Amino acid sequence: MQLSLALHSSPRFSTWLWFNDWKLLIDAGDGASQQLGYKIRKIDTVLLTHSHRDHIGGLLQVINQRGEAGPFSLAHPTMGRSWRDIESFSHRFNPNSSRNAIWRALEEGDWIDSGVAGRLIRAFRTRHFNDDDPAKAPRSLGFHLIWRKQKVKPQYAALSQRELDEVRRELGRTALLQPENAGKSERELEQAQIEWGRAAITSPVDEKWICVGGDGRPLSPAEVEGTQILLHEATFLSPDDYDGEAAGEDVGHMHSTTHDALRVAREAGVEHLILYHISTRYSDQEIREGIADAARETCFKGRVFAALPRRVYFDFAREKPVWESAL
Ligand SMILES: [Zn+2]
Ligand SMILES: [Zn+2]
Repeated sequence: MQLSLALHSSPRFSTWLWFNDWKLLIDAGDGASQQLGYKIRKIDTVLLTHSHRDHIGGLLQVINQRGEAGPFSLAHPTMGRSWRDIESFSHRFNPNSSRNAIWRALEEGDWIDSGVAGRLIRAFRTRHFNDDDPAKAPRSLGFHLIWRKQKVKPQYAALSQRELDEVRRELGRTALLQPENAGKSERELEQAQIEWGRAAITSPVDEKWICVGGDGRPLSPAEVEGTQILLHEATFLSPDDYDGEAAGEDVGHMHSTTHDALRVAREAGVEHLILYHISTRYSDQEIREGIADAARETCFKGRVFAALPRRVYFDFAREKPVWESAL
């Protein structure tokens, strides 16, 4: 599993995910800037799934630290009372840094340019708030991390490399006819032909790489289908554990169980599942056993990883699967 991911996720307390190669921070729970240190300055994009305190508790400090290094973008679901308040407070609290945060309200289906070539993000609606009105703009979002690759067009797919090079050169000559290339040097024209030819034989293809589900009820398998890696929340090991209301937890908010997340991955045909946002009420042992049980019950095919609560992962790619299906 090729991945550059650092994360921490303890529901109620803090969740943040740092995709180093994408210069992307998803959620900004307490401790994000403390743990990431000067990596914070590399952030191009901060995306927030929703406005619960465990996901934005460290936001002011992220804005403060990152803003010192110049402009960056910060996007969040359109709905939610807190956004405007946080934005205006951060402007008063730390005007020099916060003016470099470019705030944006997202609707479902919105695209976000990561700023890194060929890497795009698409927002989708999740179901986390009981009173969320589907007719209105979303209060909570998940994100698809998508690679936009240039691939050879289907009509040229059967050609050998030599034939393909020939077609590319042939089509590249068209560049000479373009008015914008008039007056260019020989060297520049050569380059223009190469680029023109390459563009003519390829077309962009989007590949879903990672899906970050955020908090909420199980994602729809149709939404998730085709992604290589799914990060799905699994707050509870069992539906019976939804008793958190007694502790002031989860009132009016919906979550998923380990079983739910595995079923989604199974139905969507996703082979790499990372479970996160797992309640701190469970021991590591209980979590491992719970995942193995649920994987067997759902007949999941693939590998399951767990971002255990109470722990900071600086390089999640090093983790061994908690469970994997027999070949
Ligand atoms: Zn949460
Ligand atoms: Zn939440």
